[in-house]
Amino acid sequence: MGAMKETMGFQTEVKQLLHLMIHSLYSNKEIFLRELVSNASDACDKLRFQAINNDALYEGNSDLKIRVTFDKEARTVTIEDNGIGLSRQDAIDHLGTIAKSGTKEFFTQLSGDQQKDAALIGQFGVGFYSAFIVADQVTVRSRKAGLPVGEAIEWTSKGDGEFTVENIEKEARGTQIILHLKADEDELLSAWKLRSILTKYSDHISLPIEMGKEEWDEEKSDMKATGEWETVNKASALWARSKSEITEEEYKEFYKNISFDFQDPLAYTHNRVEGGRSEYTNLLYIPSKAPYDLWDRNQQKGIKLYVKRVFIMDDAEQLMPPYMRFVKGVIDSSDLPLNVSREILQESRDVKAIREGSVKKVLGMLEDMAKNDADKYTTFWTEFGQVLKEGMGDDPSNKDRIAKLLRFASTQNDGEAQTVSLDDYIGRMKEGQDKIYYVTADSYAAAKYSPHLEVFKKKGVEVLLLTDRVDEWMLSYLNDYEGKGLQSCAKGGLDLGALEDEQEKETKKKVETEFEDVLKRVQDLLKDKIKEARVTLRLTDSPVCLVADEQGMSEHLKRMLKQAGQNAPDTKPVLELNPEHPLVQRLKIEKTHFDEWVNILFDQAVLAEGGHLEDPASFVRRLNMLLLTVKA
Ligand code: ADP
Repeated sequence: MGAMKETMGFQTEVKQLLHLMIHSLYSNKEIFLRELVSNASDACDKLRFQAINNDALYEGNSDLKIRVTFDKEARTVTIEDNGIGLSRQDAIDHLGTIAKSGTKEFFTQLSGDQQKDAALIGQFGVGFYSAFIVADQVTVRSRKAGLPVGEAIEWTSKGDGEFTVENIEKEARGTQIILHLKADEDELLSAWKLRSILTKYSDHISLPIEMGKEEWDEEKSDMKATGEWETVNKASALWARSKSEITEEEYKEFYKNISFDFQDPLAYTHNRVEGGRSEYTNLLYIPSKAPYDLWDRNQQKGIKLYVKRVFIMDDAEQLMPPYMRFVKGVIDSSDLPLNVSREILQESRDVKAIREGSVKKVLGMLEDMAKNDADKYTTFWTEFGQVLKEGMGDDPSNKDRIAKLLRFASTQNDGEAQTVSLDDYIGRMKEGQDKIYYVTADSYAAAKYSPHLEVFKKKGVEVLLLTDRVDEWMLSYLNDYEGKGLQSCAKGGLDLGALEDEQEKETKKKVETEFEDVLKRVQDLLKDKIKEARVTLRLTDSPVCLVADEQGMSEHLKRMLKQAGQNAPDTKPVLELNPEHPLVQRLKIEKTHFDEWVNILFDQAVLAEGGHLEDPASFVRRLNMLLLTVKA
């Protein structure tokens, strides 16, 4: 069929990525080797996996390996594997586009700040294109397993927007990546240098990585090739080695390899589980930063599944629940069949046992961190707390453990850091207090200055300030903790139980009679907007506030539902008035402007909640009118 040389353009995103990468990853350029070796290793994994059902793909050679060589004269470094290889179409599809989902969102997150972007690009996974950090031309020669020698391909690009593909003859199955080094990259033309990068980044790769053996040549006073090969990595799956043989450095490097993260992980756990339902090994990591696509509940690429060291799949979502989608790592089962499919995974009781066991390990790791290293736990919580909260609803069997791990902002602390646990709260409860009080709002400021907190401040009772979007949802799964009910400060007639003294109860009765008339008029006037008007002792500074019915939905939740385009039930709030406030007292004697006063007070209550006025123009008009009645 001839050479059929074709020239094609890179997808726009590839061009963008190449440009960014070359400029922002330059200080970290050694990673190109890790990425290419990792691709070579993936290619061998894929071959091994496909060969399970089709032994012919091995073409008589199942001795899979990776070789790294260099040529001083030609100034090239070559990474070669005998894995699955690329067909012509594979090369066009995979080495010219970025197939990853979320590519668009990824590009919108880039800030232009080199350091930040470098970390993001790292998370995104630079893969093959990282070759262009050190090379000004990259040639890929490859033959796909099972295809004839004459249907091999050569792909070449200078990384400038175009690539060419043509057919060549290639005997050996698999892929050769030839890097034509940039002018100032001569440092890489050394066995010592390449070897040190390989041991740093790729030691754990479970296939042998070979380099040409060299010996000291006395005559030439230089190293010379012996013509033999030697394996330069440990070539055993890291997770399969015993814990005591693995250094912290190795654990961290392994993490960076599987996660595309540049930073060290926050924590990890490595376990061999034997006996019981199933035998497996897991090595699980918690990153120190949230990835750009953390919010996508379907985006679960964290766990690699192996069966008896054979790589099976990358995004085995059955192995971790969505609320632990931040976990990265490897699970290697001894019991699952090698040809396990996603359907089997879904139904397998072994998989369920592995998932449950692994979730418990992650919870254990978090409990440990919370107990022994509060700062680290705060980092975890800041990055992933909102996702962990999903577990309160998603994972009833571990709800109590997750509840212990929750952290909140609170009136007890300055600043919005979420550091208070429910246990901390209970430890500080006042005598006679039997509930855990909280307030929900759109922002920290709205929560902290909410009028609903006034009486709690007066009595010195702590209130948790909840401002994350998932909070309202989570709270519906958290009715009580350690026998203490959770109570919204903005819901129901405030029953402070034993925190309320006799005198307060009497005062309340007295003002209720005193304001009976006013309340009736207010209620008539606002009957379309409120369910009821009543006096309250919960306010000290504000004249009014809105509260939800005990069964009703909070105003905050209603707003969130509306923003999300969902129907919120049309329950009306209760307007509470502070009988001691001069503006409210004024209602008793106000004759001409009663309507204006009441409407302004109602609108104020809406604003103080963080809500939007339905008719802001009327609010302004009324307010101005009243301001003008004040004599200068
Ligand atoms: P990723 O590995 O994250 O998918 P890359 O940019 O590193 O992204 O690689 C793109 C694709 O090119 C891979 O998914 C794979 O299909 C193919 N590829 C890369 N290197 C090799 C190789 N050595 N052998 C076979 N296929 C490869």
